[in-house]
Amino acid sequence: MNDQVQPIFILPEGSSRNTGKLAQKANIAAAKAISDTVRTTLGPKGMDKMLVSANNDVTITNDGVTILDEMQIEHPAAKMIVEVAKVQEEEVGDGTTTAVVIAGELLHASESLLDKNIHPTVIADGYKLAAQRAQSILQAIGMDIDITNKLTLKNIAMTAMTGKNVEWAKGKLAEIAVKAVLHVAENNKVDMDNIKIEKKEGGGSADTELIDGVVLDKERIHSDMPKRVANAKIALLDTAIEVKNTEIEAKIQITDPNQLQAFLDSEEKTLKAYVDAISNAGASVVFCSKGIDDLAQHFLAQKGIYTVRRVTQSDIIKLSKATGSKIVSKINEIKPTDLGKSGLVEEKKLGDENMTYVTKCLNPKAVTAIIRGGTAHVVDEVERALKDAIGDLSAALSNGKCVAGGGAVEVELAKELRKYADSLSGREQLAVQAFAEALEMIPRTLAENAGLDPIDMLTALKAEHDSGKKWSGLNVFSGQAQDMWQAGVIEPLKIKTQAIQSATEAAILILRIDDIISSGKSNQQQMHPQGMPPGMM
Ligand code: ADP
Ligand code: MG
Repeated sequence: MNDQVQPIFILPEGSSRNTGKLAQKANIAAAKAISDTVRTTLGPKGMDKMLVSANNDVTITNDGVTILDEMQIEHPAAKMIVEVAKVQEEEVGDGTTTAVVIAGELLHASESLLDKNIHPTVIADGYKLAAQRAQSILQAIGMDIDITNKLTLKNIAMTAMTGKNVEWAKGKLAEIAVKAVLHVAENNKVDMDNIKIEKKEGGGSADTELIDGVVLDKERIHSDMPKRVANAKIALLDTAIEVKNTEIEAKIQITDPNQLQAFLDSEEKTLKAYVDAISNAGASVVFCSKGIDDLAQHFLAQKGIYTVRRVTQSDIIKLSKATGSKIVSKINEIKPTDLGKSGLVEEKKLGDENMTYVTKCLNPKAVTAIIRGGTAHVVDEVERALKDAIGDLSAALSNGKCVAGGGAVEVELAKELRKYADSLSGREQLAVQAFAEALEMIPRTLAENAGLDPIDMLTALKAEHDSGKKWSGLNVFSGQAQDMWQAGVIEPLKIKTQAIQSATEAAILILRIDDIISSGKSNQQQMHPQGMPPGMM
């Protein structure tokens, strides 16, 4: 008898497999690598990253989701962490770094539990319990907010933009964000579609302004058209004012010159009929999402209709909301009731380009923030900061609650979770404690990034919280523990609830994997033996 067991191959050649602890460790290491990458950017004193894309575009930012987006991460578990940032971005618009750091830390903490031979399922259950309890603690400690709390709103906007490379214009930008949000808010709900952001290089970021209405980065198409139309009746077209329809490509054979003239005449007639239909409906302004034939431009100018072409789809939708216009796709069928209204449509110069301002709209809810800045990089960073601020304000109002930042809320949560852990049995207790510790990574990191001693700071904060100061957090500028509510470091509760929810879900998902089978087909995705793609090492 042959004692030697023949190996059985069940996977194609070139594929690799990691099982059990090895698989878990590889995934945890990858997740941790991601969170370590963005960790250094957390908080007002966080550093920036310079991201250079394949075609050498440079982005300088400390925005978590932007960094991870540009990094083109390959590792599957790492990608799941990136997903956490994306969900956070979509749901709240801020707190992406926080969410990723918590996810990474939950996994890191689970490593020592795995080493103690606690089964991943038990850890997952413990984390779930802790997350549930964290949510109810957050609801209990959150402070109420509504549109009347102007100062708190401004503080939320300021906090959102702290450390975002826009320090010099922060006050002004915070005011714009609050104004924009209060302008469009209805029953504490903010429809973000009503806030348009238009970027224009030039000027300084302090020249950023809020316009009551919709501003388009487009000029009128013919110099004979009026520059200014009061009491405008607005038509929105999502079809070209052209004869040839790109969808039906026709071929015309002409055998004698008269036929050509007849053909051109009929083309002219059709275009004239289009413009007449628009004019007969009563339109004095046309926004068209497609192209407009030269001849039609001429007819429109003759009729004195202010016309803009190639307006983006999203602007057409914004204009429709702001002016009450219906979007027309058959020009011949346009009716007076399809038209919308605005008090004034005019072309104005911004920098050295002409823009179209649609103001005094039928629906006064629409606003446009025009972002200015010396270079494209500055403009982009101002946009990200403003979007964070607007997102935070909208989250605070729609959820109606906010908390103090600077690590205050995380230390308070950790304290309460430890109390809760005491009521649980052995193994789950350890998991809940690990969860509490993972949350403390936020104040630790804030301290580290500010060049302070994380252990000293955390000890000081814990002592303050034990004595009942629930908003005591880290003032990264003075290096002292301080009441963060009084210091005006305020964030919407939603940042924290969302971050904890998605971080926990991702951590649990990754924890439960005990087998990584990767096909060897694509060289790019080939794993390093440690489970990390070569670029991550
Ligand atoms: P994220 O992507 O998670 O929003 P940020 O870089 O914006 O990351 O940092 C957010 C963290 O910085 C939060 O924990 C917030 O409480 C904290 N923070 C903001 N402003 C201050 C401040 N003035 N002092 C201390 N901490 C602050
Ligand atoms: Mg932030």
